[in-house]
Parts: sequence; structure tokens; C-alpha cells
Amino acid sequence: ATPIHIVGGGLAGSEAAWQAAQAGVPVVLHEMRPLRTTEAHRSDGLAELVCSNSFRSDDAETSAIGVLHAEMRRLGSLIMACADAHQVPAGGALAVDREGFSAAVTGALDAHPLIDIRREELGAPPADWDSAILATGPLTSPALAEAIREITGEADLAFFDAIAPIVHRDSIDLRVAWFQSRYDKAGPGGSGADYINCPLDRDQYAAFIDGLLAGDKTEFKDWETATPYFDGCLPIEVMAERGRETLRHGPMKPFGLTNPHNPTVKAYAIVQLRQDNKLGTLYNMVGFQTKLRHAEQIRLFRTIPGLANAEFARLGGIHRNTFLNSPKLLDATLRLKAAPRLRFAGQITGCEGYVESAAIGGLAGRFAAAERAGEQPLLPPPTTAHGALLNHITGGHIETIDAGPRSFQPMNVNFGLFPPLAAPTRGPDGERLRGPAKALARKRALCARALADFDGWRAGALKAAAE
Ligand code: FAD
Repeated sequence: ATPIHIVGGGLAGSEAAWQAAQAGVPVVLHEMRPLRTTEAHRSDGLAELVCSNSFRSDDAETSAIGVLHAEMRRLGSLIMACADAHQVPAGGALAVDREGFSAAVTGALDAHPLIDIRREELGAPPADWDSAILATGPLTSPALAEAIREITGEADLAFFDAIAPIVHRDSIDLRVAWFQSRYDKAGPGGSGADYINCPLDRDQYAAFIDGLLAGDKTEFKDWETATPYFDGCLPIEVMAERGRETLRHGPMKPFGLTNPHNPTVKAYAIVQLRQDNKLGTLYNMVGFQTKLRHAEQIRLFRTIPGLANAEFARLGGIHRNTFLNSPKLLDATLRLKAAPRLRFAGQITGCEGYVESAAIGGLAGRFAAAERAGEQPLLPPPTTAHGALLNHITGGHIETIDAGPRSFQPMNVNFGLFPPLAAPTRGPDGERLRGPAKALARKRALCARALADFDGWRAGALKAAAE
């Protein structure tokens, strides 16, 4: 039978190869290391962890990443099986012995009768491949990146992420902040009240600038400095270094906005947050890309009025990261709309993290195998961790309301990507739930719904395959 070609033997490509081969389809897995390496990889092993050795929380009852672990185990994930077999003690987190883990993944793929591993760099997908999965990661080799850019167009392949922090909408204090678009302008699809605004007075602004200038920053790695800052994506701390008023004339400008809680007093500066997903559960801090350390970001951003209790779905950052404008380019089963024989998987699609990349790789492998068998791939429901992540990549993102830069950025799995659920109001003993207990009950309910819906989906997929 004609094989599926998978390019990149990282977290996503390894899982994709495994899932496709387990479904009975032959696979050729192309990995360029050790002939050619990336700036971050050190070994020739498949599924090499380039930095931390943690797969994060393994708690499937209250954490989104824990649910993703559980779902992957139910799909027979190779990445999870090898992680479980090479676990090292890390409290509630799943951390692994990186060498043992990578050797186990490499060994299992090598031993699989339907998988042929070829050590070669792919420059461009050959015309005679009728089904391929490109999983070459955040550090895709330049030749292939160029080939992808020719297919997708320049504007839709990014080489850096410039990530502004993203806040859970229900943690923003609307007794202090308010909804309004600048000059009440309603762009396409907008209402004139599309932004959440947080006002600062002169003293609060001065203290914020002091905090930014003094804040502890992460350094660019040597290989990242070649193109550090680019088109309109200056980190806020760099803007502050250029002058104490610079931010007030940039992302913190106070014009065209009136505070309904205090209409007679003009704010000295205003931080705006813009809706980040269709569900309306997440808001990004507009123009607030930063290289401040995470703890420093939480401390400093909580000094902004309205954000005192902000919970962050992700913090700001700037990294080298090759990724597609997936909501525009990919269809619901991760195929390139312009060339459906090509699928993408892993971090290049706009998820982030080892586990998320592997999960999306697994889906891509299953989708490609189903297609080979002449079946219509079944999509996991958006209430599952797999579905929520897939939805972020392929459809859950809103077009920017104004003409600003597109805001699709890579993301870890988090509860903000799940369709909301009314929080239980009573505990198991009938007691009234409030505050943190209520938030915990909501997380439990989201996790339970995810796993129940996941099992339903898996049963449906198994039934479809049997028919
Ligand atoms: P990768 O795992 O990078 O795999 C891509 C593979 O494709 C590589 O093996 C590469 O050699 C190969 N390849 C590239 N181009 C070609 C080509 N043309 N032909 C053939 N093969 C090719 N995530 C975390 O969860 N925790 C962390 O601590 C963390 N730290 C990170 C630190 C750095 C410096 C970077 C860059 C990323 C980090 N990430 C971290 C993100 C992490 O790398 C990804 O989430 C994950 O590895 C992505 O999986 P992937 O399969 O998409 O890509």
C-alpha cells in the first residue's frame, strides 16, 4: 500500500507515525537529525525534549493538561506510554527521564513493522506524495520553511511569536474596568464595545513604568538575536526604555474612551483587552508582548486597576517559532486547504508544548489513516481537551475586529478553550459553594464532561472503523 509520509520525528511526528501505523497504514517517517540539527536539539533521538523534562500536571480531575494526558492514554498514545514508563518523581506533575523517554519512543517506532524511518532533511514535499503530515516544529529547517511559505504566502507563516498575555474574562473586575471600543467604533463584526478597558491614573502609570524598567527579563538565546524585534511587535519594556511616555502614546493611550464608573475624571493611561476566542472566555492584553519573567508579569499586571485578581491563560513571551496562520489555512482535519494532500501537526499548527504537540500529531495520524481507509474522519467534540485544542487551531479563533496585526498565537491547552459550563452551586453535601471552592467545582465539572464526551467519541470512531 502507498505510505503516508510524515516529516519530522519530534513529539508530533512520532505520535502521528504511531497512530497511523497502529491503524494499519504504512508510514515513512523522515527525520533530518543527526545529518542536520536545529539550534535547540542535542541528540539524534526521536521525540527529544529540548528544554524542561516535564509534561506538566497529571491531574485529570482538575487540570486541562491532565485531561489531555488521560485522553491520550485512552487512544493508546506512544508518547504517553513512554512517558509513563520513564517517569521520574515530580509531585503531581508527570516528568520523565528525557534520554530513557526518547530512546523508548525511537525503539518502538523502529521496531514497528509498518514504519520505515529515514534520516534525511526534506526540502519540499515531492509532488508524488498523495498524503503527508508535516510536523517539523517551531524550528523547521529553513529550506522547508521557505517551501511552506511559497504555498501559504508570506503573511501566513510567522517566524516569531510575540505573545501578549491572555486573561480569563471572568477574572477581570468590571466594577473597575469597562467595555468600550475607542471612539465607540464598531468595526466589521464589532459592537462598538468590543474591548475591556482598565484605567490608570498618573501615579499608577508612573509606578507601572518603574516596575517595567526594574523588572527581571529573560534573555534572548544567541541564535534568537538575529532578528529580535520586528514590525510593530516591540516588547513593552523596550518601549518603556525608549521614554517614560512612550507606552502612553502606544498600547496604553487613553484617548477616545470614557470611564462609566468615573466619567468626569480622564484616565492618564488605559490598558485594553480584546476578545481572543469565539467563546468570549479569553481576552488578550493588546500590544503587551513582553520578555518579562512570568512571576514578574503576574505581579506587575495585577497592579493594573481591574486586573487585581486576573488569572492568566498564558503569559507574554517572544520566541523564535515557525507557525502557520492555521485558522485561515487549515481545514477541520488539519489539511492545508490549498493543497489537501498536505496535513500539518504539532507546534507548527499553533498549539504549544510537548503534550499538546503530540496530541495534535496523534489526531493528524488518525485522520490521515481514516482517509486512507476511505472513511470520513470523526472530529473529537470541542468539550474534550483534544477537541478544544483542535478548535483553537482550526476554527475557534476570531478574526481581529480592527485592522491590527492578526492575533492567532500558539497556546497551551487551558480551560478557556473549552465551551463554558455553568458552575455547580452546591457541593456533594448540599453546601453552597463560593469563591475557590466554586472555581474548583467548575474545573471538576469541565474535566468530567471532557472525559465522558471523549469516551463517546472514541466509541463512535471505533464503531465507524468496524463498519
Ligand atoms: P519538534 O519536537 O521540534 O520536532 C520537529 C522535528 O522535525 C525535529 O526532530 C526536527 O529535527 C525535524 N525537522 C525539522 N525540519 C525538518 C526537515 N526539513 N526535514 C526533516 N526533519 C525536520 N515545550 C514544552 O512543553 N516545555 C518546554 O520546556 C519547552 N521548551 C522549549 C524550548 C525551546 C528553545 C523551544 C524552541 C521549544 C520549547 N518547547 C517546550 C516547545 C516544544 O519544542 C514543542 O512544544 C514540541 O517539541 C513541539 O513538537 P513538534 O513535534 O511540533 O516539534
